[in-house]
Amino acid sequence: MDEFSLIRHHFTGLTAGARGVALGIGDDCALLQIPEGQELAVTTDTLVAGRHFPERTSAYDIGWKALAVNLSDLAAMGAEPRWFTLALTLPEADAVWLSEFTRGLKVLADVHHVALVGGDTTRGALSITITAMGLVPVGQSIRRSRAQAGDCICVTGTLGDAALALRMLHHPALPTVLRQRLNRPQPRVQAALQLREFAHAAIDLSDGLAGDLNHVLEASGVGAQIQVQGIPASVEFEQWASAEMRIALQLQGGDDYELCVCIAPEQLPAARAACEVPLTVIGRITDKPGLRFMAADGTKVHLDATGYRHFS
Ligand code: ADP
Ligand code: MG
Repeated sequence: MDEFSLIRHHFTGLTAGARGVALGIGDDCALLQIPEGQELAVTTDTLVAGRHFPERTSAYDIGWKALAVNLSDLAAMGAEPRWFTLALTLPEADAVWLSEFTRGLKVLADVHHVALVGGDTTRGALSITITAMGLVPVGQSIRRSRAQAGDCICVTGTLGDAALALRMLHHPALPTVLRQRLNRPQPRVQAALQLREFAHAAIDLSDGLAGDLNHVLEASGVGAQIQVQGIPASVEFEQWASAEMRIALQLQGGDDYELCVCIAPEQLPAARAACEVPLTVIGRITDKPGLRFMAADGTKVHLDATGYRHFS
């Protein structure tokens, strides 16, 4: 067996329990079956060492996160995850690293019943690209482009934890829960499926609320007003983030992997009852374009609402 065959061997444990796979790993392509009445949702995300995760991140966490960020995109679309492919570029075939990487990948893949159906393996600087695929009934996908004036802007869970953990990475007393929020994000797959029938629009928060919400506003041709003190924070965040850091971490920090969902006010109680994670209303969609941030006393909060951007 050559080196790359050995590497591929590590991934056979990730193909179990596959649904709708006519042909899996081993041929030139996988063959997947799309049931009648469903659309295939496809998304790709790459993680590059030093850019998307700190250089010293464990192999387990890298495996977890590479899949998590992709499942988060499927969730934001209202799609149910089914399959993924893995393009792996490795500096060397380190058996210990590989088995830890696959372990992290497999734990999350099993939680969401997704199967590895193919990929590619090359040598080079560490980089992981996953393409995730899921199914959504025709007409039920949640687009960025359909937010309506008057909608409540809701977020799942809490924001800012991962950005805080990144900022305080080397602090020895940093609570594990904060570190886990950075290294092992929980994609909101179930919550998204539960919210699908109520959501006018959704996006997953990967680059910071301000920038990500702006994508929804632009796609929908609307604006928004956000109450910054109403943005949900974890107990640990409250303890560890200084007042000056707070707004920047929650609005521009990134890596939250929570959902931001626009829901008509009359639908909110039913949406909350259906959703397995807490939904917090942080503002409203407005006819007036632009994104405005308000303090509790009604005064405007000024910030550069671009979020985290590559190449800028
Ligand atoms: P090809 O030269 O046709 O691209 P490869 O040798 O790259 O073939 O791959 C052979 C088979 O192994 C293919 O089915 C491919 O999908 C699978 N494969 C290769 N690398 C990976 C990987 N990292 N994860 C999962 N499957 C992989
Ligand atoms: Mg190949």
